[in-house]
Amino acid sequence: MKISSKAAPVSFQNVSKIYGRDVLAVDDVNLDIEAGKLVTLLGPSGCGKTTTLRMIAGLEMATSGHILIGDADVTTLPATDRDVSMVFQSYALFPHMSVLENVSYGLSFSGFTKAETRERALVGLDLVGLKGFDTRLPSELSGGQQQRVAVARALVLEPQVLLFDEPLSNLDAKLRRQVREDIRAIQKDLGLTVVYVTHDQEEALAVSDEIVVMRNAAIAQIGTPRQLYDAPVDRFVADFIGEANLLPCSIEVVAGEQATIAIEDYRYDLPSRGIPVGPATMAVRPSRLVIGAKDGFHAKVAKATYVGVRMEYTLEAAFGSMFAVQDDVDTPLEVGTEVTVGFAEKGPVLLPEG
Ligand code: ATP
Repeated sequence: MKISSKAAPVSFQNVSKIYGRDVLAVDDVNLDIEAGKLVTLLGPSGCGKTTTLRMIAGLEMATSGHILIGDADVTTLPATDRDVSMVFQSYALFPHMSVLENVSYGLSFSGFTKAETRERALVGLDLVGLKGFDTRLPSELSGGQQQRVAVARALVLEPQVLLFDEPLSNLDAKLRRQVREDIRAIQKDLGLTVVYVTHDQEEALAVSDEIVVMRNAAIAQIGTPRQLYDAPVDRFVADFIGEANLLPCSIEVVAGEQATIAIEDYRYDLPSRGIPVGPATMAVRPSRLVIGAKDGFHAKVAKATYVGVRMEYTLEAAFGSMFAVQDDVDTPLEVGTEVTVGFAEKGPVLLPEG
């Protein structure tokens, strides 16, 4: 017996959700999630992530628009008629049932015989690394193990879409990393369609094929972790994904898609992104500032911190301060050192105003 995948794509077509009279939780969202991909909904508290997830599950109904799973329009279908499973932050295990009974629970309604149910549940437990834990009660497991049981319970149903609502929030940092790696490995292995909600950007970067950054009930940007990190569309995304220095600059020339910017005497060419000549703002990641570059602008080391795997610097330039990191921990720069700061490849991106 093998757990296989019936992975289906999910599509949101102009979906809105209004709670009560006027709480606009999701505002005209269009979104296509490919089958077999892990897509994360990421954003600050209240931006509409959970509501979006719950609308896929059928636990909330869209106020307008259409939701498709595979070819089927499920917009008005009740949760019980949708082929999706959800893993919650709180695990939601039945405390009086054994691990095996918990994992078997949903299967017993799915037309499997008792023997098939047992076999399938045992395979599910094996998949999440809990072989031999079948007779324990949830209270006899660690938090991480309880969450694995919840994952197994969802997996064995072979849903078209598997939903995770902040599944790691109740775990400590070390376990969080382990469980997220396991979830990702299983998802890839079985080719599952997973929609995953988190407000933790590092978690999103680590597990996702694609990240949907949400803000104020709408999508701010969709992209692979690298696309979002390398080319955030605006200040909000730049700030929310990883750390970003926002540097004032001036666009001197725009020629087609390329712009030449100036910071002091330093000139640098980069994509113009439709931003016109004049004062502008660039976002640049701390690791993409090159301290001691041949060409660059002037700054002074204001703070130097050794954090084991790298050095962290605060640099003061005439136009403000910035945060930089360097892998070289063996020859740290002294506070007060005058340096020339340039940009690494894929260094800065221009951001629109606002
Ligand atoms: P969090 O990270 O805090 O869980 P979220 O991004 O998941 O936030 P949602 O839970 O989807 O956001 O909430 C979006 C908006 O809808 C918020 O303003 C929230 O207060 C509101 N909201 C959510 N559920 C309800 C409800 N049942 N009734 C009324 N308003 C709600």
